[in-house]
Amino acid sequence: MALERFQMLIAGKAVDALSGRTFESQNPYTGEPWAVLPDGGPEDVDAAVAAARAAFEGEWGQTTPFARAASMRRLADLITANAERLARLEVNDSGKLFREMIGQLNGLGAWYQYYAGVAATTEGRQIPTPNPNYLVYTRREPVGVVAAITPWNSPLLLMSWKLAPALAAGCTIVIKPSEHAPVSTLGFAELIDEAGIPPGVVNVVTGLSRETGASLAAHPGVDKVAFTGSTATGRAVAHAAAENINKVTLELGGKSPQIVFPDADLAAAANGIVAGVFAATGQTCMAGSRLIVHRDVHDELVALVAERASRIRLGDPFDPETEMGPVANAPQYQKVLGYLETARSEGATVAYGGAAESGLGGLFVRPTVLTGVTAESTVVREEVFGPVLAALTFTDEDEALKLANDTPYGLAGAVWTKDVHRAHRVAGKLRAGTVWINAYRVVAPSVPFGGFGWSGLGRENGVDAVNEYTENKSVWVELTGGTRDPFTLG
Ligand code: NAD
Repeated sequence: MALERFQMLIAGKAVDALSGRTFESQNPYTGEPWAVLPDGGPEDVDAAVAAARAAFEGEWGQTTPFARAASMRRLADLITANAERLARLEVNDSGKLFREMIGQLNGLGAWYQYYAGVAATTEGRQIPTPNPNYLVYTRREPVGVVAAITPWNSPLLLMSWKLAPALAAGCTIVIKPSEHAPVSTLGFAELIDEAGIPPGVVNVVTGLSRETGASLAAHPGVDKVAFTGSTATGRAVAHAAAENINKVTLELGGKSPQIVFPDADLAAAANGIVAGVFAATGQTCMAGSRLIVHRDVHDELVALVAERASRIRLGDPFDPETEMGPVANAPQYQKVLGYLETARSEGATVAYGGAAESGLGGLFVRPTVLTGVTAESTVVREEVFGPVLAALTFTDEDEALKLANDTPYGLAGAVWTKDVHRAHRVAGKLRAGTVWINAYRVVAPSVPFGGFGWSGLGRENGVDAVNEYTENKSVWVELTGGTRDPFTLG
């Protein structure tokens, strides 16, 4: 089958890599390449950063927030109109379910609608001081050129968590999607011009080498770095940003706990656990991969989850009946299987799954429920980024919290109980950026998302996220027209 061809977006033009090199994107379900795209390198990053700088210093830098909001609303409408095409690109690239990706794409416009509202309502303040001779006010000014570096698991959603507030603030941006799922971001870039966003405001560079992302994170022409990916890469990105004294936000990995108390609705909890760790083949940063369950209900809950896991339909991501697609790429597939091997060798019991599903052709791993693990087990400590749940038991609330917080990560977590006092008490003590009570895996443009500890730095989404893309300037206005002692601090 002929490969679909895509180009990068730099300075408003669809371009190839300066070197002329290309690479192919693999479809993890068919195992075949399906698209060919530019293999951009540091020289393309240079061109994109220069274009973003020129646009920031040009027309875009002079737009009013109301004009930017209008462009963002047009972009939202275009995303909705193109949702099916963009979802298809994401499915071909990552093997995620069409039913999940079309849901994400149909909801994606909400991020641009929301931040259009934020653009028009971001305000400075008038600040009182002890000195009556001055009027002081603050201005929220765009930070400048943003570098956005994204992972493969939900490319357009996680990219929009950066692009929407960056546009609202008045920044320009260079986006570098993952080499494992780069195509949907190039498809998205085709909408930018039609939305009326001037050339150079949004640029996309793709590249097979990790060097491309590294050169963008370290680029001296960048003013802020927004990164989503693994904790190891996040550390490298933070170092690079520090060298340039740049603002940085990091959305990193997780090992999120689902705590189930004995009074919980176990059927609802089992459903939430399935949503937390098997949806998207467990390839979500917020995967609820540690089940921390009261010993009295452990057997019953594990049986419920294992039974549902046994009925999960694996298969073609485009089939509306499919519930779990393949793992997104070969290195990730090997990594997940490696963790299953390690879990076995460390004495875990497989309540369900525990192996590859070879009969389906693609990179499939069975949804897996592991018991008999300890707080020290590798599968309890490290992010698997696959459909693997590890269950630990507790006897009282203190022990549940101790187990839940015994991780360097802190992205998300859930509490399952009908006791309203306990629900809020435990939510308050969980060291995580998001806690769901009797729910899992819900996000919204208006609700901050990010992590404690190794799960990240700063927050995306919500009204305050726009501040990550602005500088706060204080302006002092002398009111008397007089002079003052020049040798004292005013
Ligand atoms: P990754 O860290 O391997 O890659 C992420 C991006 O960084 C890619 O675009 C990659 O090309 C680029 N990159 C690689 N080396 C770089 C460097 N030295 N400097 C700058 N950029 C570089 O992550 P991944 O495997 O694509 O994604 C999976 C990880 O992302 C998981 O750990 C997951 O938990 C995390 N994640 C976090 C969130 C969140 O919001 N917290 C969301 C989704 C995924």
